[in-house]
Amino acid sequence: MSTASLATAETAVSVDDVEITFSSKRSRVTALTDVSLRVEPGEFVAIAGPSGCGKSTLLKAVAGLTLPSAGSVHLRGQHVTGPRQDIGYVFQRAALLEWRSVRGNILLQAEMRGMDGAEAKRRTDQLIEMTGLTGFEKALPHELSGGMQQRVSLCRALLHEPQVLLMDEPFGALDALTREKMNVELNRIWAETGTTVLLVTHSVAEAVYLASRVVVMSPRPGRIIEEHHVDLPRRRGYAETLADPEFHRVSSRVRELLGAAGDND
Ligand code: ADP
Ligand code: MG
Repeated sequence: MSTASLATAETAVSVDDVEITFSSKRSRVTALTDVSLRVEPGEFVAIAGPSGCGKSTLLKAVAGLTLPSAGSVHLRGQHVTGPRQDIGYVFQRAALLEWRSVRGNILLQAEMRGMDGAEAKRRTDQLIEMTGLTGFEKALPHELSGGMQQRVSLCRALLHEPQVLLMDEPFGALDALTREKMNVELNRIWAETGTTVLLVTHSVAEAVYLASRVVVMSPRPGRIIEEHHVDLPRRRGYAETLADPEFHRVSSRVRELLGAAGDND
């Protein structure tokens, strides 16, 4: 069903009836079919689904890195027809330049975009402070923990104040405790900045703790099978959220759906 008529120029992300098929001489894989998703400014949408169901493909379509075979993607009412500059991307691996300092890695974003130098430096300092990296400005990536490297990657993705922050299993490589800390930090940053976020995660707890809405996808070809609003305040404490009946309501439903989809993780 098309919901395109409901999207406005203010809708941060609008994915309408998207199908993505990868074809080569040997094979043809339909990664996504009939996917429609609307994200309003300031929403935090978590996408959960079994491995290979097209979560990364969906994020790439939003970023304009993969174009739909059918259907369309709009960012603030603008049709996405190629790679977009106005998004921020965080991947599972921080992908930092080993020879550049924390500051240098964050400022790379400014250099690639030709941002005003003074403004970029001011924002870099602000982000370093916001993500608790103060004192490590000159450190090289190998001198940082995995969690700190991901913070640098997050700063770099936020430097140009993107319309939407796309995160693809950003904390998947971190140990459980660091991951929890990063979740708390990301919640604070989201609550403070009002950034629109689309997060792909394998962790049900992470999805429900962080999101204002959780979207669950089916196995390949991926489609959205259910969406759940998470009726909790924007700024959330970790322990109290995990003890909240709303957290339990949404998590058990999402787990049930993923279990049925053959992915219990
Ligand atoms: P997920 O992120 O949910 O694990 P992906 O979006 O990475 O899933 O992949 C969905 C499906 O599309 C998989 O079957 C994968 O093999 C296939 N796929 C993804 N990218 C490509 C590509 N560039 N070429 C061919 N097949 C691809
Ligand atoms: Mg993926």
